Amino acid sequence: MSFHSCEWCGFTWTAEAAKNATVQAISRDSSPTTTTPLGYALFATRWLQAPLYFGLVAAQGVYVYKFFNELWTLVLRCVTGQATETYVMLAVLKLVDVVMIANLLIMVIVGGYETFVSRIGLQGHRDQPEWLSHVNSNVLKVKLATAIVGISSVHLLQMFVDVHHTSRHALLWGTVIHMAFIASAAILAYMSGPMAAQSERVSHETHKEPAPEEVRSPKAFVPAQAGSRHDDEPSVEERLRAAGFPARKLLEEFDSEHPHSFDRETVARLGKLDFVAARRNVVFVGPPGTGKTHLAVGLGVRACQAGHSVLFATAEEWAARLAGARDAGRLAEELAALDDHPVLIVDEVGYTPFDAGTAGLFFQLIAHRYERSSLIVTSDRPLGRWDEIFGGPSALAMVDRLAHHAELVRIDGESYRTRRATSAWAD
Ligand code: ADP
Ligand code: MG
Repeated sequence: MSFHSCEWCGFTWTAEAAKNATVQAISRDSSPTTTTPLGYALFATRWLQAPLYFGLVAAQGVYVYKFFNELWTLVLRCVTGQATETYVMLAVLKLVDVVMIANLLIMVIVGGYETFVSRIGLQGHRDQPEWLSHVNSNVLKVKLATAIVGISSVHLLQMFVDVHHTSRHALLWGTVIHMAFIASAAILAYMSGPMAAQSERVSHETHKEPAPEEVRSPKAFVPAQAGSRHDDEPSVEERLRAAGFPARKLLEEFDSEHPHSFDRETVARLGKLDFVAARRNVVFVGPPGTGKTHLAVGLGVRACQAGHSVLFATAEEWAARLAGARDAGRLAEELAALDDHPVLIVDEVGYTPFDAGTAGLFFQLIAHRYERSSLIVTSDRPLGRWDEIFGGPSALAMVDRLAHHAELVRIDGESYRTRRATSAWAD
């Protein structure tokens, strides 16, 4: 178990560098990078590690062989009546042991590769392990330490089951070593706590409620190019301002008990922003006041904090913007410029019906961003009824592209505004 040695500490800087590089890659911002050729060459040496992970894959194959070997022996002994109860228990524990070590291996292979070499791009995959979306060297260390504790407890249990054939010396040391594993896992978990709290604090500082006039400042449209013309990487605050949110709503402020029904799991998963990297869309559908805009803005704020550029506007404002570009004969440029923003939010689709010309503009926007970048859309009408909003033949084709790679979240229940008003009145 050499991975548990100080090699981890030596590689901590590599993990951070890898993470920063990945964030830059994912953000798709065209801001200039400051990496020097020498630094880049050093960073590129991480690829030397790639074959090591394939070596571990071979080791995993050995464990698969070992597992079936043990299983076969167990079955044979049971069939021939040579298996005592203690033997069966020990053999099953051995199988569990092999599986746990194999699990540990996969954690090292996938997590290590993702953290130290390159992104695997599992975002949005239905088999993506929960921990992989926020894996870093700290998470990995704690996961490995707890996995080792699990394995050592199985070993200890094996010793106690077979206590008559285990020397006191082995029992004593087995227990001491197990306690040492528990202590080191506890220390690692404790140490990663303050680190996580620190990064949480930093992220909280960045989304403090702005002054009211800042929130309510008229949402003048920032040309799409403006966000990317900064000499340096824009700060989170600059991103939040440029996004043009009507008010800063946070996902953390969303009372998930209020809407009678909505897919809480999907919303929690969306909060990890995998949909941005996977270039998928998000559509919130539900009656007025159920928190669609709140959730869309909440995701937008998270995206800004993660380094993505976001633009928010209502469907009507988008229609005016696209029509303006079309009339000026630069619709194609405008759509291309919007590519600088990995996330666009189109709020309140459905409150105003659009004519065939405007529907065509929305179709172009959605078709242009299809599989290229993300849209977050809110609407009071299910996609199947969008032909009531958009005149002309585009509605169906538009919905088809929008929904193909989309997370659809249906929110049902009474309006949060009305509920607040009626309960205040009742009070
Ligand atoms: P919609 O876009 O569905 O019409 P909004 O997102 O504009 O609704 O919500 C209306 C108001 O109610 C906003 O101020 C929003 O923050 C608040 N709100 C709605 N649902 C919730 C909720 N579940 N928890 C906290 N605030 C909510
Ligand atoms: Mg709304």
